Amino acid sequence: MMSHPPLIGITNSPPDRKVGYLKKYSDAVEKAGGIAVMLPWPLVPEHLSSLIDRLDGILLPGGHDIDPKYYDEAPNPQLGSIDADHDAAEIALVHATLAARKPLFCICRGMQVLNVALGGSLYQDLATQYPSTLNHDQDDYLLTPHAIDVVPGSLLHTIVGTTSLAVNSMHHQALHHIGARLVVTAKAPDGIVEAVEIPDHPFALAVEYHPEALVEADPLALRLFTAFVQSCH
Ligand code: MN
Repeated sequence: MMSHPPLIGITNSPPDRKVGYLKKYSDAVEKAGGIAVMLPWPLVPEHLSSLIDRLDGILLPGGHDIDPKYYDEAPNPQLGSIDADHDAAEIALVHATLAARKPLFCICRGMQVLNVALGGSLYQDLATQYPSTLNHDQDDYLLTPHAIDVVPGSLLHTIVGTTSLAVNSMHHQALHHIGARLVVTAKAPDGIVEAVEIPDHPFALAVEYHPEALVEADPLALRLFTAFVQSCH
């Protein structure tokens, strides 16, 4: 009997985001052999467990900043646009996905949501709070302005097969205090966290960069999506 491709739920984003922003994520999931299911926005909290039951994996994409109230901080003047209800829904989705032991892949904002959901905190704005870092807030999704050092033996290392990876970088925020259960598995040369994982979960990987933008150019970027989709069977 032929098995169905896995259904990968991708959280949608507030309607003020530019149209088509999420298409790269759904394209990458489909290229990797999954079926991308764009979830409704706003997510209805009462529907989360029904959604998780029927989906084979969850992808949290990039997007706007997280309301710092979720990590007990006042807003920094350089904080970007926020949507506290969307944050709350994605945080609840993280907990539901982990509780169901379903695969979870988080990108950029998605990694930040995962960290905050597990009790971690963020740099709200690297340029003002950590000015000695590299410029992580670049404009071009196709350029790879910095490398990351990948921890040997990590899930990320197993997938990409290298300990040094050139990545794109479109984030003005970054992980600060690391949430419970998370292990840092890649850093930029300036120490900024670029990947975290949950070792005791079937597949829980988060990256700060944007592999969805690199899948046409970089086989290692596509490999992340392929590994995720395969873990969803
Ligand atoms: Mn970066």
